[in-house]
Amino acid sequence: MDQQITCINCPVGCRMTVTLSESGEIQSITGNTCPRGEKYARQECTLPLRMITAVIPVENSATPLSVKTASPVPKHLIPEVMAALKTVRISAPVALGQTVLPDVCGTGVPVIATRPLE
Ligand code: SF4
Repeated sequence: MDQQITCINCPVGCRMTVTLSESGEIQSITGNTCPRGEKYARQECTLPLRMITAVIPVENSATPLSVKTASPVPKHLIPEVMAALKTVRISAPVALGQTVLPDVCGTGVPVIATRPLE
């Protein structure tokens, strides 16, 4: 079985073909121009990761706060992370990079503010 993957590590956007066995093991990866593409394809086929960004309300401000996971988290956890973010209660001031939710969904990854808010 072949799976088409576009590498997102740089603007070149190499289109790769990953051939998987019937049991799901990677047999070959072609189309990448550099080793980063192969690493990305392997990650995508085993445990795809994503940065998650969102905007959450701030209790004492009309301006919402933009936040993101500090590093990529498993893609399948996106709904749980979004649900967890709905439970966050935060008030201004908020510093750039401030943790608004530690260890989101048991990933060990915090959600942090991507901008300051007075
Ligand atoms: S495989 Fe290498 S050159 Fe191609 S998109 Fe990925 S990082 Fe860029």
